[in-house]
Amino acid sequence: MKNNRVIVAGGAGYIGSHVCVDLINNGYDLLVIDDFSNSSPESLNRVREITQLTDQSRLGLLQADLASPADYQKIVDTIKLYKPAGAIHLAGLKAVGESVAEPGRYYRININATHTLIDGLDQADGRMIVFSSSATVYGDHNKSPVDETGRTGPTNPYGQTKFFIEQILTDTAISNPHWKICNLRYFNPVGADVSGLIGEDPNGIPNNLFPYIAQVAIGRREKLSVYGDDYPTPDGTGIRDYIHVCDLANGHVKALNFLEQDGNNGSHIFNLGTGVGVSVLDAVKAFEKASGKKVPYEIIQRREGDIAEIYADASQANKILGWQATRTMDDMCRDHWHWQSQNPNGYGDIKDDNKL
Ligand code: UDP
Repeated sequence: MKNNRVIVAGGAGYIGSHVCVDLINNGYDLLVIDDFSNSSPESLNRVREITQLTDQSRLGLLQADLASPADYQKIVDTIKLYKPAGAIHLAGLKAVGESVAEPGRYYRININATHTLIDGLDQADGRMIVFSSSATVYGDHNKSPVDETGRTGPTNPYGQTKFFIEQILTDTAISNPHWKICNLRYFNPVGADVSGLIGEDPNGIPNNLFPYIAQVAIGRREKLSVYGDDYPTPDGTGIRDYIHVCDLANGHVKALNFLEQDGNNGSHIFNLGTGVGVSVLDAVKAFEKASGKKVPYEIIQRREGDIAEIYADASQANKILGWQATRTMDDMCRDHWHWQSQNPNGYGDIKDDNKL
């Protein structure tokens, strides 16, 4: 019988909670490992609600810090006891600016967390990892659409940790051919589950475009700062590939299904994006349309380290994993707004002065 137990490291976070929903809906049993350093346990209650989970043992939780030496043995022992088939690895710090200011913390936490997970899975004979990598590993070296053979070269420590972890996982797979790895290079996840019960709840001032736009629309912030309108793009603002978080989550299920098949050992890389480039001003317009709210903005100088344009060639994920993004920009804006307007303060913790 197939082993349907999966560890979800970082499962309470924005992407993790959506991955949990899709895995549960596909018959998997989960053990989430999370320290809630940038997430709320409430997200897991909402996952239970969305999936109408009656058997609570199907969604277990170990509250622990994968990067902490103090928690290491407890985590490894718990994974051994759980005997998972493998793990989805989304545990780590993710703020680009913070990573520039505190590189040591980013390298230590993101990489140590990965080693703990590798050790636990190795000892549990569950040598399978789907890793949350990022399109940021491409840096500014490629013409879009970029495919997985694109030149890498991250421009900040956060991106470097993603790149290093891909290398660590690939080397691990070389060291022992039983390992099966999928490195998923995410483009820009936005939106929320259609229920409006789970979504992105950033700590403090959002760094990313969509949460910022959403907080302006709901009245928590006065206006959006658009970082530059002098890029070589049609309207001068930066172009990205925004992907609905539910499409992204489904990519993890498809990657897991792929790794479960005999013969798919070794390390693989897949872009997860829509292949559609959207400018900052396009995104503002789409959000205004979906929300019926005005999103005032001002153009300011470029943000350091930003690139003009990147969007995905995701044809490999389509061909090999049978995966494709199906949701449109309008879906993304509608669902993001639904989450934001139903949960104006996210999961409710008072984390900054601008909460409503
Ligand atoms: N952006 C912006 N104002 C913001 C946040 C982002 O103009 O407050 C722009 C940014 O310059 C980029 C795009 O929106 O062109 C997406 O930025 P985000 O930080 O969401 O993703 P990333 O740059 O990491 O792809």
